[in-house]
Amino acid sequence: MTSERTRLRMVERLRSAGIQDEVVLAAMAAVPRHLFIEEAFASRAYDFDVALPIGCGQTISQPLTVARVTELARAGGPIGKVLEIGSGSGYQAAVLAHLAREVYAVERHKELAEAARNRVVRQLRLANLRMRHADGLKGLPEAAPFDAIVISAALPHIPDELLAQLADGGRLVLPRGTAGNEQRLCLIQRTGSRFLESTHDAVRFVPALLGKTVPSARR
Ligand code: SAH
Repeated sequence: MTSERTRLRMVERLRSAGIQDEVVLAAMAAVPRHLFIEEAFASRAYDFDVALPIGCGQTISQPLTVARVTELARAGGPIGKVLEIGSGSGYQAAVLAHLAREVYAVERHKELAEAARNRVVRQLRLANLRMRHADGLKGLPEAAPFDAIVISAALPHIPDELLAQLADGGRLVLPRGTAGNEQRLCLIQRTGSRFLESTHDAVRFVPALLGKTVPSARR
């Protein structure tokens, strides 16, 4: 149930569901998703359209959504430096680390950020991925500008600070909308001071929240 064959079957389903970018499919084939999920749910780790709990009331996105987001962020070309906001289990960040030069991932829940760091750095040894416990809505100015920014939690509006951290020619992908209402994947492409927006698939993400949790916070 956690074998490479199961993973390849998931990739075939993603292909049938319309994911065309072979580089994205190869990255999805490379990341052992069952390591990012609580053991009780591991048997469903490769169901391509299922979101699963990861603790702190959050969920890991379904593989199909991760693949779509990655496809939009990549646009068929290489990505230099990418920022993921709301890295949760670290799965989306690990997929990005297989096709970008450098990945910065930010999570507001300390427990999730630490568990994700253990997985991606110690277990999977993804040396080009850095996990931070911080409020991602401020971006990560010290590492900006980014060639791509992926926001993994729903937002009705995009903070100016994030747009400012997008490199010229950069791409920002986010689920636009509010929790419980319709959300759509949105792609924003920067050319100089112009930001061109396009709307894509309907999705369902947990909301982005302000601030980070502190170590003493109740679970
Ligand atoms: N991409 C993740 C799943 C995303 S769930 C994965 O692959 O597992 C959305 C995550 O966004 C949650 O873990 C939530 O805690 C986080 N989040 C919400 N608002 C945030 C903020 N302002 N800064 C950083 N993380 C945030």
